[in-house]
Amino acid sequence: MATIGAVLLKACLNGSRDQGEHPLLPVRPEQLAESAREAVAAGAGAVHVHPRDGDGRQTLDPEACARALRAIRGACPGVPVGLTTGAWIEPDPERRLDLVSRWEVAPDFASVNLSETGAVELAQRLLERGIGVEPGLWSVADARTLVASGLAARSLRLLVEAMEEDTAAALATVAAIERLLTEAGVDTPQLQHGQDRTAWPVLRRALDAGHDVRIGLEDVLELPDGNPASGNAELVAAAARFAREADRPLLGAGGRGRVRGDPAVPGTGLWSQADDQLEVEP
Ligand SMILES: [Zn+2]
Repeated sequence: MATIGAVLLKACLNGSRDQGEHPLLPVRPEQLAESAREAVAAGAGAVHVHPRDGDGRQTLDPEACARALRAIRGACPGVPVGLTTGAWIEPDPERRLDLVSRWEVAPDFASVNLSETGAVELAQRLLERGIGVEPGLWSVADARTLVASGLAARSLRLLVEAMEEDTAAALATVAAIERLLTEAGVDTPQLQHGQDRTAWPVLRRALDAGHDVRIGLEDVLELPDGNPASGNAELVAAAARFAREADRPLLGAGGRGRVRGDPAVPGTGLWSQADDQLEVEP
């Protein structure tokens, strides 16, 4: 009986991109819902979005966030949905905390960039509200902040986010953060990702290293061969192919503990539940 580590492939649908950067960048709730549905059909097990206001600007406003969440959940029942809390959307820490506290429709999880002022307090507020926390680690310093905060064990997963534009530098940062976490005894699942030029190299390294990954128009506009992606689903499908090549079956909607069967891969419909180490049934 072989054991194989399954991978969560999360679709990051829009991020901070301007509408002009891609013709099919999802912005309005119905666009987010349609893009999420296609991404899940292509293999995504969770989605992460940046809700927008009526002018297409990013917002943490409770009503705008609720509209986005309801639309996505209507299109993808049971698929965990996460939101950003980026400080560039609301730079005042008190106002940001207040907006998140007033989210009447709660996301399943939210990312919190640990380098931002008020991050630990924001993460604690989310936890009090029963919302999963994804601390965003952009550097070794952020990883030290995480360890000192005591948040690691209470986090849903850690986002190891390479911000460098140079691929070698991005891969080195990811490895350094990974090393620090290992040395600190942190065993919270890691989702690692790059952006633009580094997105595919970081994703492939993460698959080989046994971590979770994400892909979508937030991170990259091009396919691995450099051609423009038609949209989120094509990016997810390309990442799913890399996962197959790395012998990493995809976790289905619901996150860890469930695996999406892939009829193209013999035996993958037969995974049993057991955290991220999944046993192949004969
Ligand atoms: Zn994001």
